[in-house]
Amino acid sequence: MPIKESSVIWKNGEFLPWHQATTHVLSHGLHYGTGIFEGIRVYDTPGGPRGFRLTDHMERMQDSARIYQMPMPYSAEEMVRASHELIRLNGLTSAYIRPIAYFGYGSIGVVPEEETPLDVVIAAFEWGAYLGDDGQQEGVDVCVSSWNRVAPNTIPAGAKATGNYLSGYLISREAKSRGFREGIALGVDGRLSEGAGENVFLVHRGKILTPPASSSVLLGITRDSVVTLASDLGYEVVEQPIPREMLYVADEMFLTGTAAEITAVRSVDGVALRAGAPGPVTRRLSEAFFGLFDGRTEDRRGWLEPIEPAESKIAPTGATGTMEIRNGAAVTV
Ligand code: PMP
Repeated sequence: MPIKESSVIWKNGEFLPWHQATTHVLSHGLHYGTGIFEGIRVYDTPGGPRGFRLTDHMERMQDSARIYQMPMPYSAEEMVRASHELIRLNGLTSAYIRPIAYFGYGSIGVVPEEETPLDVVIAAFEWGAYLGDDGQQEGVDVCVSSWNRVAPNTIPAGAKATGNYLSGYLISREAKSRGFREGIALGVDGRLSEGAGENVFLVHRGKILTPPASSSVLLGITRDSVVTLASDLGYEVVEQPIPREMLYVADEMFLTGTAAEITAVRSVDGVALRAGAPGPVTRRLSEAFFGLFDGRTEDRRGWLEPIEPAESKIAPTGATGTMEIRNGAAVTV
């Protein structure tokens, strides 16, 4: 999917014109996969632009940094504030926010030396449905990948790190080459894990099932939102290890993620889901989820975070300069 460019990118405390937000070819993260990132959607709601669980995403990024012992120079709150400013400066009302922190230029070798900076960047741009508009309407055809998800105690699946996506790349690439929209992976124990970039849910005999943290999954924020909304609607949600065969006897199946939102699965390995796509439970959950963004669902937990127009100046800790907004444009002073 081509990137829809916006005008400025935040890097290490400064707003830079889109094409000047570059990095050195010898940056550590490029060679060794030492980066952590997030993906957040901003929805254009009747009350104005709202970041969906923006703070939770920035907190998960801090967790990813802790797992890898990366010295994050900005707090979650500072990252949230910079994101607000970025959305505003780019004049966006709905967007995908992509923060990333990676070891930059300064040393060669697997463990970066002390002086190697952890560069922190936030970009924001417009983005549509990840698994396609038709996928959102009619459901997608998926397959079980021949690639397993990362094994426990190898590369942590629970951290959202750039290097993890070599696994997602292989899973998704294989699925696409075989004519499927997305690939679903099993863990090394042969049990259901997750999609290349989505968590997986099954509906079986009225219960909603999803694999637990110990099944090599990223604990998705959409996953958590869906579990909460499903409980609000009175469904029983069970987190349990799921054997592969459950995929073929489930009534419904759907994928969740910031990019995929809630996407129904129509078939898995060529076997159509019993209750069609979207099935009745998936439809109810989708209505509750998308209803948050058009006002049909009450935001009972403050998940919709208003994009505050910042005061004229913000200076995150560790920033080399400060940013000022003059006549609607960002300048560094
Ligand atoms: N699993 C993987 C591997 C992912 O990349 C994502 C997307 N971040 C998810 C699950 C879903 O997480 P979230 O709902 O927080 O976007």
